[in-house]
Order: sequence, then structure tokens, then C-alpha cells
Amino acid sequence: MGNSVFDGCLIAEELAYGCTGIMTALEASGLGQTPVLIAGNKEQQRKYLGRLLEEPLVAAYCVTEPGAGSDVNGVRTKAEKKGDEWILNGQKMWITNGGVANWYFVLARSNPDPKCPAAKAFTGFIVDRETPGLTPGRKVNLI
Ligand SMILES: Cc1cc2nc3c(=O)[nH]c(=O)nc-3n(C[C@H](O)[C@H](O)[C@H](O)COP(=O)(O)OP(=O)(O)OC[C@H]3O[C@@H](n4cnc5c(N)ncnc54)[C@H](O)[C@@H]3O)c2cc1C
Repeated sequence: MGNSVFDGCLIAEELAYGCTGIMTALEASGLGQTPVLIAGNKEQQRKYLGRLLEEPLVAAYCVTEPGAGSDVNGVRTKAEKKGDEWILNGQKMWITNGGVANWYFVLARSNPDPKCPAAKAFTGFIVDRETPGLTPGRKVNLI
């Protein structure tokens, strides 16, 4: 939106002072957008980031899994290329905005060779909420 990093930090600090939970939800959308900003092509950036400017929508960042937290190398969600399409199979958890996001950044293992170094074994995908087979989990009520 044309703000500097400093502006972003200031806004985040002020909002988090009021409510860290709300700020986490807002910040997590930025987390999902960052890989697209860094590595997405122009078409992906226009389509997915543009959408978030046109409507009040959020993205989510999907790395953590039931068996992979700090150790990202433990991610087991598989990505297989079939013809022109990628098929993703797996489960993510602790995904902030997971239930309400319009699209997801999803990290998946695209090289099944266990000897493949971690830095080359994974691919990041943009996954639309409406993708067939995608099921956002139920909301967990902690109170
Ligand atoms: C509020 C909240 C929001 C979140 N949102 C997202 C999200 O949007 N997207 C997403 O992908 N994930 C999200 N997460 C998940 C978060 O990324 C994981 O909780 C985090 O990676 C830690 O993983 P874990 O909980 O499985 O803990 P573990 O990795 O099992 O760690 C457990 C404990 O062991 C310690 N530990 C782990 N490895 C080592 C080591 N090598 N040496 C010493 N100590 C170690 C840790 O410090 C910790 O105390 C969220 C988590 C929280 C709490």
C-alpha cells in the first residue's frame, strides 16, 4: 500500500498493544503474502495480491503439520505433478486464518527422495480456497 517497513512496524505495534490475537490474525495474512511477493511471478502477484486489495480478504501461511513444527524438514504433505497439474496430499495445523482465508501459501515436499537436501526438497504453492478436495478444519474453541 506504499507504506514503509517502519510504518508497518508502528501499526503492528499499536494494534498488538490493544490485542495480540487480532494482530496475529492480521499479520498472518502478510505472512501468506510474503512468499508471493518474493517469488511469485507477475501474473500470480496481480491475481492473488490484487484480490486482497480489491476486497477485504485474507491469505494464510500453511507450513506447520501435526508432525512438523520447528523442524520444517519434517513436512510430509506431498506434491506430485500429474500432467499439467500438481496434486497435493496432506494435512496442516495451527494455520492462523485457515478457516477464513481466500487462498493459502502451502509448503509441500515435491521431491520424494529422502536423500534430497531440505533446501531443494520443497515447493511453495498458492492454493485457492475453492480448490476441489480442500477441507478447512473445524474451528477449535479453546474457551
Ligand atoms: C498463535 C500461533 C499461530 C500460528 N500460526 C501458524 C500459521 O499461520 N501457519 C503455520 O504454518 N504455523 C502456525 N503456527 C505453528 C507454529 O509455527 C508452530 O507452533 C511452531 O513452528 C512450533 O512448532 P510446534 O508447536 O510443533 O513445537 P515443537 O517444534 O514440537 O517444539 C516444542 C518445544 O521444543 C523446542 N524445540 C524444538 N526444536 C528444538 C531443537 N532443535 N532444540 C531445542 N529445542 C527445540 C521448542 O522451542 C519448543 O519449546 C502457529 C502457532 C501459534 C502458537
